[in-house]
Amino acid sequence: MTTTILEKFFYICEKVHCYSTVFILTPGFLIFEMGVVRPTLIEIYKIGVAKQLLHVFLSVFCFINVTGNMIMSIISDCSINKTRRQFTEDGDFCELCKIQRPPKAWHCKECNVCILKRDHHCFFFSRCIGLYNRRYYLMYLVYIHISMVYSTYYNYYFVSSIFENHGLEMAIFRLLNPFLRYIMREETSIKDIYVFFFLLNVGIAIWSAILLSFHMRNVFRGLTAHEYREPSKSNWKENLLSVFGTKWYITLIWPFVDSPVIDDTDFIVKNR
Ligand SMILES: [Zn+2]
Ligand SMILES: [Zn+2]
Repeated sequence: MTTTILEKFFYICEKVHCYSTVFILTPGFLIFEMGVVRPTLIEIYKIGVAKQLLHVFLSVFCFINVTGNMIMSIISDCSINKTRRQFTEDGDFCELCKIQRPPKAWHCKECNVCILKRDHHCFFFSRCIGLYNRRYYLMYLVYIHISMVYSTYYNYYFVSSIFENHGLEMAIFRLLNPFLRYIMREETSIKDIYVFFFLLNVGIAIWSAILLSFHMRNVFRGLTAHEYREPSKSNWKENLLSVFGTKWYITLIWPFVDSPVIDDTDFIVKNR
C-alpha cells in the first residue's frame, strides 16, 4: 500500500517536473537571457546591431531545437500496444502486457507497457526512450549542451560585470557554502540569483556532456543503454541510420521533420 502511494507520488512529481520544464523553465530561461543578460551586455560592451541580431537568431534557433526535440520525444509513442503489430515466436512473452514481444523490447514499470527497442526510462521527459524517439532525445542533449556552453560564456561576462575585485569568486564561494554566508552576515540579493543561474549553466553543460558521450557511444556501437557492456553490432553508419532515420541530415537542425528509422530490431513483422 505504502509502495503504491509512493509510486503515485513519484509519478505525479515526474509529470509536474516534465511539463514545468517544457512550458515554464525553458521559456523562462530564454526570457531571462533575452530580457536581462542581453541588454546589460549590449550596454557595457556596446555591441553592434549585426552581432545583436546574430545572437538573437542563434538563441531562438537553440530554443526551438531544445523544446521541439523535448516535445517530440514526449509525444512519440514507442509502446508495442499502439503499433498494431503481431510478432512471431522471436523474442519473448511479457506476462504483464500478455504480448509476444520482439527482441530488444522491454517492459517499463513506470510506463506500464513494453517499449520497442527500449533504451531507458527518462525522468526528465517522463517517458521511455525507444525506437521512435531516441533521435529526439539525443538531439535534445546536443542542443541543451550547445545552449548551456553558449549561455555560460555570456553569463560569465554578465555576472562578472555586477561584481568588483574578486566579488564573483566570493559570491560563488558564499553560495556553495551557506556557513560562510552566516559568518559574513551578508544579506541575500538578486545578485545571488544571477550567480545561481550561472552555476546552473555550468552544471547542466557538464551533465549534458556526460550523458551525450555515453549515449552517442552506444548509438555508434548499435547498442541500447541496457547493452552498453556488449560488443559493437553492425557498422556505425547503419547504427546511426537506425536512430536518426533516412533524413538524418535535417534532424540535426530541425526537430519536426519526419525521418523514418530503419528498423533493425531483427524481428519478423506480420499483419502490419
Ligand atoms: Zn510488457
Ligand atoms: Zn518508461
